[in-house]
Amino acid sequence: MIKNVAEVKRETCFGCTACMAICKLGAIHMQADAEGFMVPAVDEEKCVNCSACTKVCPALHPWKGREGENKFYAFQHEDDTVLVKSTSGGAFSAIASSVDDPYVCGCVMDEKLYVRHIVSQAEEDIAAMRGSKYVQSDMGNVLREIGEKLSAGKNVVFSGTSCQTHGLLNYLAAAKISTENLITMDLICHGVPSNLMHKEYVKNYEKSKGVKGVKHYFRSKRQGWGLRFMLKNYEQLFVHSGHKQTVVHSCVVADRTSLESQLWLNIFFSDLCLREACYNCPYCTDSKPADITLADFWGIEETDVDLDFPKGCSLLIGRGEGINIVKKLIKFRALDKKQESVARNYQIHLNRPIKRPAKRDDFWEDYHKHGFDFVARKYLRYGKRYSLLMLLYNLANLLKNKRLAQKIGGWLFY
Ligand SMILES: Cc1cc2nc3c(=O)[nH]c(=O)nc-3n(C[C@H](O)[C@H](O)[C@H](O)COP(=O)(O)OP(=O)(O)OC[C@H]3O[C@@H](n4cnc5c(N)ncnc54)[C@H](O)[C@@H]3O)c2cc1C
Ligand code: SF4
Ligand code: SF4
Ligand code: SF4
Repeated sequence: MIKNVAEVKRETCFGCTACMAICKLGAIHMQADAEGFMVPAVDEEKCVNCSACTKVCPALHPWKGREGENKFYAFQHEDDTVLVKSTSGGAFSAIASSVDDPYVCGCVMDEKLYVRHIVSQAEEDIAAMRGSKYVQSDMGNVLREIGEKLSAGKNVVFSGTSCQTHGLLNYLAAAKISTENLITMDLICHGVPSNLMHKEYVKNYEKSKGVKGVKHYFRSKRQGWGLRFMLKNYEQLFVHSGHKQTVVHSCVVADRTSLESQLWLNIFFSDLCLREACYNCPYCTDSKPADITLADFWGIEETDVDLDFPKGCSLLIGRGEGINIVKKLIKFRALDKKQESVARNYQIHLNRPIKRPAKRDDFWEDYHKHGFDFVARKYLRYGKRYSLLMLLYNLANLLKNKRLAQKIGGWLFY
C-alpha cells in the first residue's frame, strides 16, 4: 500500500496539487523537478501516514469518465473586442460572465512571464486569463482558495486542464465542500511543456536580441483563425521593451516575425518536452471531468454552422449542468451528428494522447549536459540556416503567397 504521494511515480503525476491542498499537516509542498514540472515533496517528519493525499490523487485513481450525455456545440462570443483577444470563440469569457458576481480561477502569465493560476474578481485579472498559454500552469494554492470561497457561499468559475480539474474536484469532495456554486471548464488538450522551458525560450530571446521580454501571446489572431493545420493559427507574438523593432506600440515592441519569437512553436509541437503524464493522458475522451470542455472548432469550414468563423469559433462539449450553462449563452449552436463528426475528425485528443517521441530522453540528457542553445539547434530547428528560411517565410507572407509560405513553414516548423 502506498503510504503517501512521495511514492507516486514521477511519470504519472499531473502536478495538480490536490495532495498538497488536502494535507492538513502541511507536510506537502510543490517543487520543480529537473524538467521544471511541479511535483509534490513530502516532509516525512510531519507526515502521519493518514493517506488523505493518496485518496485524492488522480494519478493513483485514474479518470474513468462520468455518467450522462456529452453534447457538442459551436460557440462564438457576440462582442468582437472579446473575440479578438480569445484563442478560439471566446467561450471562457462568455461562461465566466454568465455567472453572478463570480470568483474566477484561471491561467495568467504574470509580469515575470511565469504561467500560473490565480483566483480573482478583478476585471483586468479575468481579462488576463483569456488566451491559451501553452505551458503547464503553476496551480500555487488555488485549490484551497476555491474551497474557501465555496465554503463561504460564493460563486466560483474554474478553468484549467482536465487533470487540474480532476484534482480540484477530488480535493473538494474529500474536504466535503459543496460544488453547487462551482462551474468548471477544461480543455481538449495537446499536452504541456514546463515553465522552465518557457523561461529558457524567453532568456534565449532576450540574449539574442539584447532586449527585455514583456509578454508572450501564443495565439496571435493577426492573420485570422481557421483551418487546423494553417500556421497562421499559431503565430507567436513576443512583446519586448527593446529597440530592434518591427511594430511600435506605446513604448513596447511586438515581434511576430523572428525565428526567436516563433521558436515556441517547435518547443510545443515537437512534443519533446511535454510533461511525462501527458503521453499517457487518461482524459482523451468525450467524457471529461469539467461541466464544459473548450476547444477550437477546427473543420467548421466544412460544415453549415452559421457563425462568422474567420474571427474564431469554439467547440464546446457540455455535460450535466454544463448543458444548461451553454444553453444560456447567446451565440451557441447545437451540433447535429454530421457537424459533430466533422469536429471530431480534427480532434485527435478526444481519442488518444500525444505519442512520446523516441528522442525525448536524448533531448533532456543533452539539455542537462549542454544547455538550451544546444538542444534548440539540435532538435528545435534553430540556427543560421533556419534564420534564412524564416526570412524567406516572412517574404512569402509579405507577398501574400500563402502556398509558398506554407511550404517554407513546413521546413521551419514541426
Ligand atoms: C495547453 C493547452 C493545450 C490545448 N490543446 C488543444 C487541442 O489540442 N485542441 C483544441 O482544439 N484546443 C486545445 N486547447 C484549447 C484552445 O487553445 C483554447 O483554449 C480553447 O479553444 C478556449 O478558447 P476560448 O476562446 O474559449 O477561451 P480563451 O479566452 O482563449 O481562454 C482560455 C482559457 O484557458 C485557460 N488556460 C489558458 N492557458 C492554460 C494553461 N496553460 N493551463 C490551464 N488552463 C489554461 C484560461 O484560464 C482561460 O480560461 C489547448 C489549450 C491549452 C492551454
Ligand atoms: S499521508 Fe496524510 S499527513 Fe502524510 S502527506 Fe499525506 S495527507 Fe499529509
Ligand atoms: S497527481 Fe496531483 S495529487 Fe497526485 S501526486 Fe501529483 S500533484 Fe499530488
Ligand atoms: S495532456 Fe492530459 S495530462 Fe497533460 S496537461 Fe493536458 S489534460 Fe493534463
